[in-house]
Amino acid sequence: MEYRKFDKLNIKPSLLGFGTMRLPIKKNNTIDVFKTKALFKKAIKSGITYFDTAFPYHNETSEIVVGKILSKYKRESFILTSKLPVWKIKKEEQILEYFNTQLKKLRTPYLDIYLLHAINKESYLAIKSLNVFNYLTKLKNEGKIRYIGFSFHGSSSDFEYILNDGLKYWDVVQIQLNYMDIDHQQGVDGYRLLEKHNIPVIIMEPVKGGSLSKLPENISSILNTHNWSNSSWAFRYLFQYKNILTILSGMTTMDQLKDNLNTFNDNYLWNYSDEETISKVRELLKQRIYVPCTGCGYCMPCPKGVNIKAIFSRYNEMYMYERCTPYDIECLNEYKIDNCVKCGLCLKKCPQSIDIYNIIDQIKNKTIKN
Ligand code: SF4
Ligand code: SF4
Repeated sequence: MEYRKFDKLNIKPSLLGFGTMRLPIKKNNTIDVFKTKALFKKAIKSGITYFDTAFPYHNETSEIVVGKILSKYKRESFILTSKLPVWKIKKEEQILEYFNTQLKKLRTPYLDIYLLHAINKESYLAIKSLNVFNYLTKLKNEGKIRYIGFSFHGSSSDFEYILNDGLKYWDVVQIQLNYMDIDHQQGVDGYRLLEKHNIPVIIMEPVKGGSLSKLPENISSILNTHNWSNSSWAFRYLFQYKNILTILSGMTTMDQLKDNLNTFNDNYLWNYSDEETISKVRELLKQRIYVPCTGCGYCMPCPKGVNIKAIFSRYNEMYMYERCTPYDIECLNEYKIDNCVKCGLCLKKCPQSIDIYNIIDQIKNKTIKN
């Protein structure tokens, strides 16, 4: 297991970090504490020292379970990260209220890393206007937070803005990066920017929510040049980025944990031919695009509130990875896929001449109605 040291941080976490958004669950949808305990025990014994959680995970119970299990271990033996749920904060006094609640749930006197959770420019400006930096600095001075950062989901321009605007505060930044998302959100350019500013990076979604673990058969077979799992390929691709502090994996089963440990304990050096293999996979996946939507947004707003570009983007991913999860369906519903009344207003505005409402119908038939 690799432990990377960065000048500006006085922590040296394991390169494999344990994400706790996808803990094992029981039939009633609550976290299976027994199985989670076993996973944590094996993880800690195998050298994993980094644990990541957040207020909303598992219906706001992830922090409770993580706190309960980790309280049996010496506090200095692990690095614990949680996040401020910025979308819940309407008044500035709530910042400390949430933080203190989180400390209590996690049964810890301090957090090693505290991130503004899943911000974009809009939510960043909103939380900044509530003096969040004053509170975070105060908590840092009191020893209740060691390092401050943000986790990001937004456009590359939002990313640059947030990074530069709060530059003196950011100790770490958490971004989504994997071999398919090199141009998505902040992409690799955003990673390079962090590298330039000497800010260590935490990676989330290294296997794109599991999509890169279960590739369509004809694509998966390209990855037979090594005896590695599809997930292992995705992690290894990231090892070349030396400014990464830790790579989060939301592990649910012991098999996943063992597979990850094999990957992270292997000293194999990624080479040009591996890079070529991944490029082939990337190109083949990209060819599986169902709607040629560029995401320009000219067709919107729809008078019925249909989020056309979000529907097309979500469905393209589902089609690409042959996936249709309950979360995908939840998203399509949230984008108001059912609201389309076929008024045709959007058709005239689409520069790609996409048959918008018929395609929305097709997507509904293939997903929601099944
Ligand atoms: S056709 Fe449907 S999606 Fe397009 S503008 Fe009308 S209601 Fe909205
Ligand atoms: S105008 Fe066309 S290409 Fe642009 S977002 Fe709408 S559907 Fe996609």
